[in-house]
Amino acid sequence: MSELSRRDQAVLWHPATHFGDLERTPPLPIHSARGVWLTDEDGRQILDGIGSWWTSIHGHGHPHIVAAIQRQVARLDHVMFAGFTHEPAIELAERLLALAPRDEQVHYGKVFYSDCGSASVEVALKLSYQSRVLTDQPRRRRFAALQRSYHGETLGALSVCGSEAWREPFSALLHDALYLPVPSFPAHEHADLQPGGGYGLGADTPEADRAVALLEAHAHELTALVVEPLIQCASRMNMFGVGFYQRLVDTCRRLDIHVIADEIAVAFGRTGKLFASEWAGRAPDLLCLSKGLSGGVLPLAATLIRAGFEAPFQGDPARSFAHSHTFTGNPITCAAGLASLEVFEAERTLDRLPERVAQMAALRRELADRHPQVIESRQAGLVGALTLDRARGPADGRLSLALREAALARQVLLRPLHDTIYWMPALNIDAAALSRLAEVTSEVIDEVMPR
Ligand SMILES: *Cc1c(COP(=O)(O)O)cnc(C)c1O
Repeated sequence: MSELSRRDQAVLWHPATHFGDLERTPPLPIHSARGVWLTDEDGRQILDGIGSWWTSIHGHGHPHIVAAIQRQVARLDHVMFAGFTHEPAIELAERLLALAPRDEQVHYGKVFYSDCGSASVEVALKLSYQSRVLTDQPRRRRFAALQRSYHGETLGALSVCGSEAWREPFSALLHDALYLPVPSFPAHEHADLQPGGGYGLGADTPEADRAVALLEAHAHELTALVVEPLIQCASRMNMFGVGFYQRLVDTCRRLDIHVIADEIAVAFGRTGKLFASEWAGRAPDLLCLSKGLSGGVLPLAATLIRAGFEAPFQGDPARSFAHSHTFTGNPITCAAGLASLEVFEAERTLDRLPERVAQMAALRRELADRHPQVIESRQAGLVGALTLDRARGPADGRLSLALREAALARQVLLRPLHDTIYWMPALNIDAAALSRLAEVTSEVIDEVMPR
């Protein structure tokens, strides 16, 4: 174990890391990063196949974003956001509101900044609930969420996570949400995101019918539905169909249930459009953003709020939204966010994406065809997933850990979700690096799961 690793283990507690695994896979000290490449302390280059936990949009160390951060930190590092404001926060909000999805009924009017995805979800939950209190609907105090959903780690956000396993350790502390069934299209292809004329994929499933029935039966007590549009990333990249999402939004509108779209993982080009909700042609009441918002460089989050939603909060000071975070609207993070949006324009990132999406689809299908260990293969935008036959995994049951180790030995960062390997690289990954990602994935599957 290296000197840095020893010092790390003496003082640090890492997220999503078991103490028992530290000997086998100590956190790897990284020295620097550029594009999709991380460089460790020994100078080894490691291909970042998952955008460092779904954050990296334009790659690491993008010169335009780095320069914007340097200019901003030299001018104004931070000022409290209650009673003060500044140009980066204003301009980023203006740009986000101009770019955000809209439909016949909804456009966004306000942005509330925070500093992590979980916080942006808390903001949305509290806005929804407090607006009910202020409009004399105190019975609407419950949230609906989808089974298998993931919305963050703080107690409010954890309560709307739709997996029993995540909630279980803290169940005594959580509020009581209503969980709706969700369909699953294990062979989802990117083309399935096109809804066509009416409702798209997933709208006519039994899960959709049951979800609608539950919303109808509980509408009187529901304030909002929380949903990750199109992909439940943390739940093994479950893709539930654009039509299912459309039908949920339309049902909630009919029943006066707010819709909170958690686009923390899927916004900023991940699905091929700037926002995933654009595929559905729907603009939810509240839209949560984080991960890629700063280009994946600094912690920044935002909740976009439907125009008019603020009305009940006006008037008497006692009606103010009761929520604040110390680093709300930090200027350096906002400057990074603006720079990231500028890179989208300057590099025509979204126009160039279809070629890479098609390449990923070809590599993924070929890999699935050649490996009997792969039982499912799916994709939406530049998110590709391969589910493996667990029965062929290691005897100790630690399939994902073994795959991760085997990939790292080949200088590739993969972090499978249980039995599911996924690719989620920076959007500007080049063709050679994407091919390398597929090649190593193929080798790793064969090494860990002999045929
Ligand atoms: C990562 C994530 C969150 C939580 O964001 P944090 O910044 O880790 O608090 C919430 N929802 C989704 C869909 C996410 O992917």
